[in-house]
Amino acid sequence: MNYYEILGVTPNSTQTEIKAAYRRLARKYHPDVNPDGAKKFKEISRAYDTLSDPKKRSQYDTLNGFFKTEKTHTSSEKAEEEYRQKASLKSEKTKQSGKKPNHTDKKFSDIFGTIFDTPKQTKKEPVKGKDITTDITITLAESVKGTTRTVNVVHTELCPRCNGRKFINGAKCPVCSGSGEYSIHKRINVKIPANVKNGSKLRLKGEGGEGQFGGKNGDLFLNITIKGNSNISYDGADILYKVPITPYEAVLGGEITVPTFEGAVKLKLPPRTSSGQKFRLTGQGLKKNGKTGDMIITVSVEIPKRLSDDEVKLYEKLKKLSADNIRENILNDE
Ligand SMILES: [Zn+2]
Repeated sequence: MNYYEILGVTPNSTQTEIKAAYRRLARKYHPDVNPDGAKKFKEISRAYDTLSDPKKRSQYDTLNGFFKTEKTHTSSEKAEEEYRQKASLKSEKTKQSGKKPNHTDKKFSDIFGTIFDTPKQTKKEPVKGKDITTDITITLAESVKGTTRTVNVVHTELCPRCNGRKFINGAKCPVCSGSGEYSIHKRINVKIPANVKNGSKLRLKGEGGEGQFGGKNGDLFLNITIKGNSNISYDGADILYKVPITPYEAVLGGEITVPTFEGAVKLKLPPRTSSGQKFRLTGQGLKKNGKTGDMIITVSVEIPKRLSDDEVKLYEKLKKLSADNIRENILNDE
C-alpha cells in the first residue's frame, strides 16, 4: 500500500484532508487505545510524516509517479471520491464517522490532545475575499471638485490550480510555478467624490479579493491624501491660503480678487494691512461631516517683479517723504 492508501486519501487531497485522515486513524490505532494497533499506527505515522510535509510529499510523489490525471483536473472531487471508494480504508472511515473520541484515558488525551480534536469538515466553507488597501494622492483642486482614478490592484490568492499546495503530483504547479499563490491584477475605475477630506478612507464594497467557495468578495479601501502646494494647505475642513499683496494694496487697502478652485473670491483689505495678517472667509473651505470649513487667507506684502522707472521714481519720492522710523521701537517690543 502506498502512503495515500494507508491514510485513505488521494494524491489530490489537501493538507487539511490528510491531517483529518491521520487524526481519524490515529484515534483508532494508537497503542494506548488499541493494543493490537502498534504496527498499523507506525505505518500511519510514517505515511503522515511524509505526506504532511510538502517537500517530502513532492519527493515521494516524484519517486512513485503520482501525476494528476486529466479527469481529476476537470472534476477532482468526483475523482477523489472514486479513489476513496477503491481505497482499502473506506470501511474504517464509515465506521469512524460519528463516533466520539474516547476521552476516558486522561493521560493519553493530554499527550495527544490535538489528535482528538474534532476533525475539520472536509466540506469547503465559504471564505471571504481579502480586503485591499491602496493609497491615492489627489490635488486640492481635485478634492474640491471630485475626480476619478484608475487604480491598479494586485492581490494574491491561493493558486486556483493547486489550491496552495505548490506541487501537483510531484511536479511544480504550472500555474503558480510552485509558489502556491496566484497574483491577480485588476484595474478599477474609482470615483472620488467632491469635498473629500484629507486622510479619509473610501470603501468600495466587493472590489477587493474574490471570495472562495461562495464567500463574499473583500472590499477595496482607498486612503486619500490631498496634496497641497506652496500656497495652499489645509487644516481639517479649513483651507489655508497664502496670498501676496502689493505694497500699495497694503497701504491703501481695498478690495482684491483672489483666485480659488471654485471661482474668484473678493477680499476686502483694510488700509495699512501688514504681512502676516489673516482674513477668514467663512464657508469657503471644504465640506466635512455636513459642515463647511473656512478659507483662511494670510497675506504677505510682495514686490512686483516688473517695476517701471516711473514706479521706482515714486518710491524714491516716498522715501524722501517718509518721516516715520519703522524700526525705532524694534527692541522695545514686548
Ligand atoms: Zn499552483
